[in-house]
Amino acid sequence: MSKDTCKDVDAFMSGLIKRNPGEPEFHQAVKEVVESVMPYVRDREEYCRAQILERMTEPDRIVIFRVTWETDDGEIRANRAWRVQFNNAIGPYKGGLRFHPSVNQSVLKFLGFEQTFKNSLTGLPMGGGKGGSNFNPKGKSDREVMRFCQSMMTELHRHIGEHTDVPAGDIGVGPREISYLYGQYKRLENRHTGVLTGKGLAFGGSEIRKEATGYGCMYFCDNMFGNRGDLIEGKTVAVSGSGNVAIYAVEKGIELGAKIVTMSDSGGFIHDPDGIDAEKLAFVKELKEGKRERISKYVERFKNASYHEGERPWSVPVDVAMPCATQNEISPEEARELLKNGVKAVCEGANMPTELEGAHAFVDAGILYGPSKAANAGGVAVSGFEQTQNAERLSWSREKVDEGLKDTMRNIHNKCVEFGEGKDGVNYVKGANVGGFVKVAEAMLAYGAV
Ligand code: GLU
Repeated sequence: MSKDTCKDVDAFMSGLIKRNPGEPEFHQAVKEVVESVMPYVRDREEYCRAQILERMTEPDRIVIFRVTWETDDGEIRANRAWRVQFNNAIGPYKGGLRFHPSVNQSVLKFLGFEQTFKNSLTGLPMGGGKGGSNFNPKGKSDREVMRFCQSMMTELHRHIGEHTDVPAGDIGVGPREISYLYGQYKRLENRHTGVLTGKGLAFGGSEIRKEATGYGCMYFCDNMFGNRGDLIEGKTVAVSGSGNVAIYAVEKGIELGAKIVTMSDSGGFIHDPDGIDAEKLAFVKELKEGKRERISKYVERFKNASYHEGERPWSVPVDVAMPCATQNEISPEEARELLKNGVKAVCEGANMPTELEGAHAFVDAGILYGPSKAANAGGVAVSGFEQTQNAERLSWSREKVDEGLKDTMRNIHNKCVEFGEGKDGVNYVKGANVGGFVKVAEAMLAYGAV
């Protein structure tokens, strides 16, 4: 590798793209980080000599396997599954499992890479990993999901462990899936350990885990406003998504006095100009968590709201945009439209929801832009608390976990300020990337050539 690769973003990226062909999401996630950390690496000869960026962008290993399962009609199905063990420099691999037809190696590598920095930012001893399958849980019966999860764990159990790799949920993997996966792990290993997080409260789960990503994202947003002498209270907010992250971001937003006017799913978005209150949110929870139905039902019940089929909520003029659905859900055009409509803050609940050009537009405009690896780290932070509780065989109170979550989000915010403050204010992208990078890089340097 030429010396330029630790001095020049384009030279580094052209090598990375050559080594990882056909993986656009992975390229995008790496580029965003390398743009931020290159100046830092450039100034430190030892990082260059140790090829730290080349090593950090190469996963430790990827396990790929077939998952065969049977439908209720007795038909055989085969899916592909992965576990990307990205980096364990600062702790056991940690990160969710995603079940969605869009899952492929590129998506899981981007998620595992991001997770490494995110987990470092939490201050907890957690490395980065991610896994999942192109299995689509939508429309499958509970028994089918159970058979899939059991079959997947029959292979996965060999590669994970409470000191090795600790998976959790992500898109398509919630309490139901975690329970089936954990039940099978326990049966195969005959050990009750904290090997998965997001477990049910009856068998080692933590209070506030399911709320943590959404709550944490709102706390982070409130911290960003606080740093400018302002508050989230009274702000109009567009949320996308209606899964776990979105629901609990809305819940905390309502509690902090924000007015949430949108939610969405893959079919479209609802706009409620009166704001989603606690009663309306209870309806959404029932719709999504209980019946697994579409968000469009909202407008049948609440007549002042409108449904916009096939659209995303970014054309609605708001103070805050909080994307909580999936990657690349804000295009550069939508980013510019949000800015034109006077958006003051964008705070990312989903992983990498903004395309790179859109992210540049937010940074250039000097708005409060909280990138996902900082803003959505609350979920994995409480997963870390769940591991601690399992290790000490204790359960913490709701208050204690929530306090821990608030502290963690404040600390992450402050780390972003420490590494991202410039003459024009705080660049949270730079702050999160450099802040997350330093600890992992120092550990890797200390280990020598491994
Ligand atoms: N999937 C979540 C994330 O993107 C949580 C991971 C975990 O709790 O391990 O951070």
